[in-house]
Amino acid sequence: MNRLSVAVAALLSVVLVEPGQAQSSRPGVEKLYILNCGEGVAGDISRWSPGVNEGKSMDFVDNCYLIKHAQGWFLWDTGIPDAVAAMPNGLAPADPKAVRWRRPKTLAAQLGQLGIKPSDIKAMAVSHTHPDHIGNVEMFPTAMLYVQRAEYDWPGANNQSRFKPEHPVTKLEGDHDVFGDGSVTILSTPGHTPGHQSLLVKLAKTGAVVLSGDAAHFKNNWDNRRVPALNFDKEQTLASMQKISDTLTKENAQLWINHDKAQRDGLKMSPEFYD
Ligand SMILES: [Zn+2]
Repeated sequence: MNRLSVAVAALLSVVLVEPGQAQSSRPGVEKLYILNCGEGVAGDISRWSPGVNEGKSMDFVDNCYLIKHAQGWFLWDTGIPDAVAAMPNGLAPADPKAVRWRRPKTLAAQLGQLGIKPSDIKAMAVSHTHPDHIGNVEMFPTAMLYVQRAEYDWPGANNQSRFKPEHPVTKLEGDHDVFGDGSVTILSTPGHTPGHQSLLVKLAKTGAVVLSGDAAHFKNNWDNRRVPALNFDKEQTLASMQKISDTLTKENAQLWINHDKAQRDGLKMSPEFYD
């Protein structure tokens, strides 16, 4: 081809590839696995709904979510520490109204079942820094951690930092499109903690799903917009619930509530997956 025909061919290839085609040729999120990251019993669920359901005990679950994206593996939340699997009576809470957690399966074993080594996880995010969500962050010491700056800078017990300073981190100030293709978006949803975040995932067959973090702890609380007394900021919590609700409408998305056992009982657990 001479120079002119090369130029024409290049121009044609640009014209012929419509934006929609270019996107669908990239797979984005291929699979989403729900991992069992803890099971427990809450002593009194009015802890999460002041004045309602007082003295009522309830089963809780704790999930981690593993996403296979064309650009690599991404882990959302890390659950109860794997070490709890070795405790026959589980982890007793300081407050008897809170959750006594058990670890029926370790995170490491569930990754192993999928043929994944911790070093295969290149990126991760946690919804917030409560112990039932960050229990295994350091199983992935080289994975890029996406966390809101407000959460990262929130002083922990004894004024300690919430993450190891050497852990690679990207500190966010708002929403973040993780892979740059709109398939996995971190949503800033503060209130439960200063830098709490949720995750919008777009799957080819399943459609869009929002992973709640602890924006709500179970469906009944979500439906009634109840704010736990232990939350960092009530108004922020309510605004974040509204933001999630708006996202569900806009994206025609499902809401998967992390700690809701009744909902999880109806979902497929790893090694089954959503695509
Ligand atoms: Zn939690």
